[in-house]
Amino acid sequence: MTEITVTVLRFNPETDAGPHPEEYTVEVHDGARVLHALHAVHAQDETLAYRYCCGSGQCGSCAVQVDGAPVLACLAEAKDGMVVGPLALPVVQDLEVDLSPYLERLAYIDPAPCAAFPTKEEIEAIKPLRDCIECMACVSVCPALLVTDFAGPTAMRQDLRLALDPRDTGDRINEAVKEGLFFCTSCQRCWKVCPKGIEIPGKAIERLREIANRQGLSLPRHIDVAELVRTTGRSVPRTKETFLEEVPGVIEPEGEARATVGFFVGCMYNGRLPDAALDMIEVMRRNGIRVVVPHEQVCCGSPLIRTGQTAFLDQLKRRNIEAFRSRGIDTVMTMCAGCGSTLKNDYDTPFTVMDATEVLDRYGIEPPAKLRIAATYHDPCHLLRGQGISEEPRALLRKVAETFVETPNRCCGSGGGVRSGVPEEAAALGAMRGEAFEASGADVVVSCCPFCEFHIAEHTKLPVKDLMTLLREGYEQKDRDGAGQQ
Ligand code: SF4
Ligand code: SF4
Repeated sequence: MTEITVTVLRFNPETDAGPHPEEYTVEVHDGARVLHALHAVHAQDETLAYRYCCGSGQCGSCAVQVDGAPVLACLAEAKDGMVVGPLALPVVQDLEVDLSPYLERLAYIDPAPCAAFPTKEEIEAIKPLRDCIECMACVSVCPALLVTDFAGPTAMRQDLRLALDPRDTGDRINEAVKEGLFFCTSCQRCWKVCPKGIEIPGKAIERLREIANRQGLSLPRHIDVAELVRTTGRSVPRTKETFLEEVPGVIEPEGEARATVGFFVGCMYNGRLPDAALDMIEVMRRNGIRVVVPHEQVCCGSPLIRTGQTAFLDQLKRRNIEAFRSRGIDTVMTMCAGCGSTLKNDYDTPFTVMDATEVLDRYGIEPPAKLRIAATYHDPCHLLRGQGISEEPRALLRKVAETFVETPNRCCGSGGGVRSGVPEEAAALGAMRGEAFEASGADVVVSCCPFCEFHIAEHTKLPVKDLMTLLREGYEQKDRDGAGQQ
């Protein structure tokens, strides 16, 4: 047996003004799970309210947060010093939350009389959507639910499950649209916390949006973006000289080349924020990276995939892959989180795809000057969860900013077609992000995604900078300091 300390966030709405932590020291066996620890706490204090049933990850009733992350108490390992709290949903008491508003919004089958059984193919398509144990961990982390009447990720999963079942007679696509199908920002948090690993954004929401598109239910602003891509190859209208018009096909480093990478620029950096892409090129040159820039590259297709408009997606993919393959490029670098996630997860490429922060992390960088700023970092969803990258940008930021402060992570609201299709939702989430950054004590917000940066800049008084711009400023400062000493 081992002795561990467990802090439980207690709350009785009838007697307490708010949640408060209570610490317990309990004995648990080796390999004990959080649920065992809660049983031990309950043995000391039987007023603790918590839920459980199967104890084997099958019923979903014991979902709680441990150290701020949703888990099933019966599966997560108990750790000394852990903090156990309720899911971020309305609390009934202590660790018990009210699931009924979310369960009520799950659709149930409306069977046709004497309907044929699903085919083998239909069963295979439905299977991954049936694994849900209704724990509502996904609902508890969904940013769209904070600012809209979205039915939630698992309601969308259920809508697709029924839409694919030939026995169901409901109009699931129209219902999903009414329940907020286009409110999802593609942040992927629901997928990453789901104990059953159900890939709701890609395998349910984007599929529902594809069917909605075929039924003529896409949002008008999304249709406009798709038309722009179809006619120009770009999802952003041309308003000034683009990055691709400003740079040659090969950009040599300042000294000897340590590596060669292809650069996939993406529509936002190409057309709207080309200066940040030019800053990145200078950082690569300074650090011995030769950059090859095929000028025939086009939109990666992310705005089409996220909004379910995939009719001509394959043409874009073929053109982009051929642009790099024909030049013998074995590593393609992205600096837009959305493009990088799309090339890594939605393409089948004959080359490796790396974010610019991964490239700099792999080859190492000349230290820039430390700028006298307190910087905070915004994790773009498609970098953090889409590519699993969080440490590389922070390590680079610590090299160039005198002070680094964390701001709790949350989606800014610009992804998944929400900024164009549901601007009031995007603005509400952007405003929450702006408030969090201003409360952090930082004097500059830094990120690695043009969509996030553009959107956050509209919702904070703080300057918002691309990490590559900051690194370039660090090198310029270093050069000025060096010149001053001569
Ligand atoms: S991807 Fe994000 S916004 Fe979309 S349903 Fe999941 S948690 Fe909600
Ligand atoms: S989809 Fe996953 S996280 Fe959401 S309720 Fe079902 S099992 Fe829980």
